[in-house]
This record gives sequence, structure tokens and C-alpha cells, in this order.
Amino acid sequence: MSTNLNDSAHSNSFSKIQVQSLLWPNWPETLAANLAKTRTLSGDLVLVPFCDSATPIDELYRAGCKVLVSGQDHLSHLMAEAKLTTLDPETIVDTFNRLGNSLKGGQPLRQYIENLYQTTCPHCQATLSADYFVWRRDLADPQQKQVNCTSCNFSGLSDITQADLRRLDQVETRGIHYHFLLGRTISPHSSPDTALQTRIEALHELYTPRALYAIAEIIMKIEVVISDKPIQRVFKAILLNCLLSASNLFGPASSAQLPRYLRPPTRFLEHNFWQLFETAVATWQPPNYDIRITPRLTDFLQHRRNSIHFFSDEAIHLRRYLNDESVTLLLTAPPSQNPIVWALSTLWAGWLLGLKGAEPGYALLKQKWPDWTWYQDNLIKTLRALRPTMKPEARWVFILFPEHRLHPPAVVLAALRSRFEVDVWRITSTHHQLTLILPSAETPSRIPPHTLQATIQTEIRDTINSFLRRQGQPESAHPLIWAAWQSLLYSGLLDQALISLPNKQLLTWLDKQIQQTLVDFGF
Ligand SMILES: [Zn+2]
Repeated sequence: MSTNLNDSAHSNSFSKIQVQSLLWPNWPETLAANLAKTRTLSGDLVLVPFCDSATPIDELYRAGCKVLVSGQDHLSHLMAEAKLTTLDPETIVDTFNRLGNSLKGGQPLRQYIENLYQTTCPHCQATLSADYFVWRRDLADPQQKQVNCTSCNFSGLSDITQADLRRLDQVETRGIHYHFLLGRTISPHSSPDTALQTRIEALHELYTPRALYAIAEIIMKIEVVISDKPIQRVFKAILLNCLLSASNLFGPASSAQLPRYLRPPTRFLEHNFWQLFETAVATWQPPNYDIRITPRLTDFLQHRRNSIHFFSDEAIHLRRYLNDESVTLLLTAPPSQNPIVWALSTLWAGWLLGLKGAEPGYALLKQKWPDWTWYQDNLIKTLRALRPTMKPEARWVFILFPEHRLHPPAVVLAALRSRFEVDVWRITSTHHQLTLILPSAETPSRIPPHTLQATIQTEIRDTINSFLRRQGQPESAHPLIWAAWQSLLYSGLLDQALISLPNKQLLTWLDKQIQQTLVDFGF
């Protein structure tokens, strides 16, 4: 490692907030490997519609599967693909040094960016770069700086000086760099959607002009200096890992979690972006064995051996390329339901990948949430489109990391409405696992709605009763709610409700029955 990388050891913990671990769920290890072991043979085709993590893709590949990953979230796609790109550590260091030494305004880029944060040590007056500045949300200028002086060993916070402010004034606020980033996120020539434009401009306000300047400059350099496309994408993924800590969303007391609001805290930190980037490069861990990623779908489909292909369009369009009954296993974690993730992903996808990265996110920026009808309709489109590609014995496994009590039942109902049978609904402390199969049983007969309602209410009541007798009062009502849904599924009542009651209101109607019963039990 070069000295540049080692110098970053002093970076504080906020600079280690990695986008990859906050934006997308942490997949349980070995889950995909075990599925592959029990469900597939070497060379079998496995689909991963919606891709948000390299973990399952890697495990399926290593189990010998041909893994076809799809989804329009270009950002999670970028990260997953980069994490599966085999590079030796020397190539990473060499590329980083080449980038840092490339010239900007007659100086090496590294020095140029570091100089944006240049200040003096309050103790010995040596010239150095600040680690970060502390801002107050209600004031136009930073208030303090954190320095780490190698001349006198002073390390700590001190007040901003006039010279620091003069340096800050030299950074353009709405100049070419700002418009470079904005123009990649929303096209100035597209049909005028002022609400969208305003929203995207507001997202840029989550960064200081200096941060935007540094980010834009490094993206431009990555695209010019690194001509090898896979390596270029790895460096964009590394840069992506810095974009959350580079925002104004973290204060001195913030925890390393995704913020709950897109608003800076009363006091927020502005990190030295070059230091963030150095840390992200130093902590990047490429796979240490060869992984075959096949860029063309037609080549991928002809392979007999294990391989990975990233299909950068919606999963429903895969239908065109796949034969009927050709897929052995499908593994899906439905996309995030967090509007904060939607907004930040759209912004960063634009910055890193241009308009084609940002555009799929526009609809999400306008989407009200929660809206389970919209959510289910989208899921049903995918379920129905890919259903014919499944072999008769195939399994479609959903892994859910529920943030809302209605998330698992919404997926169950969408599956039933798409004519799947839910074979298993397993609930663990971290996730739900739903195994869908193609149905063998005949469709159930219709029951008069009032009889059905009484039967459903009795089933819910009995389930809650026996849950409480068996396991006592849970800490939250969610395990009871999910147990009630499970019993409705396994008793066949969900199937009967689907043919006897209006589909679209079923989720909320059943939720109401369960909530009402919980109230009767004193919840
Ligand atoms: Zn000093």
C-alpha cells in the first residue's frame, strides 16, 4: 500500500459509514448456498430478479449455477457487480495512484482536492488539510475544524479563522461542477417537470458546494483516466461508498445508521472528501478468486458452466429471452421500501452513471408511501411474467427484511394472485423466507362472504390464543400478526378469500380483522 493509503488511518469512524451496508440489507450468509445445494444441479439457470447484494449471487455462482441478475436499480447493480469483479490489490493501488497523480489545474488531483480543505494548525501554524469542518444548520459558514497535525502532534477541534473562510469563498457554488452533477441527474432538455426538478435540486442541497465540487471532479477524472470499464465501475462503486458520509446528514453525535430524515442535523460534519475516498479505497475487498461475469446475455445463455450476467432492464423483459420451463430456482429480495433510499439512490445513480441511472428513480421520487396496492401490482407483473420460465419443480424463494407489518402478507397475497402456491413461510429473527411453487391442487370453491368472514375471525382468534398460551406475550404485536397471517395461509382461507372477496382490498380488510382481534385481546 502507498503512504497515501496509510495516512488515512486517523480518519474518524464517520468516514467509515459505507453506503453498501446501509442502503441494502445484509443478506444472511450461506442462505443462497444452501438453497443451491438442495435445489440445483451444476449449470442450472438461476434468476435473481431485483439485485441488491453480491452475497447471494456469489454463493449461487460458487455452487455452480448460471446466475442471471436483473433489475432497474442501477446503483445496487453497480455495487453488486463491482463486489464480484476480481482485481488484484496492486491494480487497485496503482489505479488509485494514477488517479491521484492525474493533473488538475497544474497540480496532482490528490493535492488539488486536499487543498480545498487547507488550513493551519492552531498550535504551530503549520499548513495542513482539515479532516472535517463542523457546520451549524442555521449559519452560512462552518464554525470549527478538526485537524491532525503531524508537525506538533496536535489533534482536535478549533475555531475557524478568517483565512479558512476566504479559502471557502474561492469554491464556486453554482458553477460548472454543480451543473455537471445536476445535468447527469435530470436532463435540462427533458419535458419540463418542475416538481421533479425542484426535488432533485433540493437533494443537491444535502451537500456543501465544496463536497459537490470534489465529487464532480473525481467522477470526471475516473471517467477520463480509467479506460478499462470493469475497473472504472469498481472505482465508481468505491466512490459510492463515500457519498453518504460526504453529505450533510451526519452530526458529531450521529450513529452510523441511515438517517431518518433528509435534513441536516443542527450541527453537521463536512468531511475532507479526498480522505473519505482514500479510506474507501483502502477498505475495498475484491474477491480473491476468479469470477466469470459475461457481458452479453446471448453468450451467457449459451454457457454450460457457471457464470453471471447482469441484465440492466426490468425483470419482466427477461421473458423474451428465456425458454419456457428453463429456470430451476429464483431468488428475490424485493426492493427497498424506504423513500430515503429511493431519493438518495436516484441522486447518486445520476451522478455516477448519468441519466440512464437516474431516470428509473423518477417515478419513485413521486411515489407516496406506503401504498401496498401499487407495491403488489408491480410485484404481480414480475411474478406473472416470469412464471412460464419456471420448470414444474422450480422454487421461487423470497427473502424479506420487513420494515412494515404488511410487507410479508402483501407479498403472500401478490403470489397467490399470480397463481402461485406458498409452500413455506418461515420467520426468523432477521428475515422472512417465502417459498413459492407452481400449484398442484385444484382451485378452492367459493364460500359466501359472511360465512367466510366468521371463519376467518375464528381462525385469527384461535391462532392468537394459542400463540399467547404457548409463547407468552411478545415484545411487539408483529409476531402475533404474522402468526395470524400464516395460519390463514396454511388453512387455505387466504385462497378462499381471494376468490370470494374483492382482491384489491383484501390486504387492508384482513389487516383490519387481525387488528380488531388484537384489540379484543388487549393490545
Ligand atoms: Zn501543529
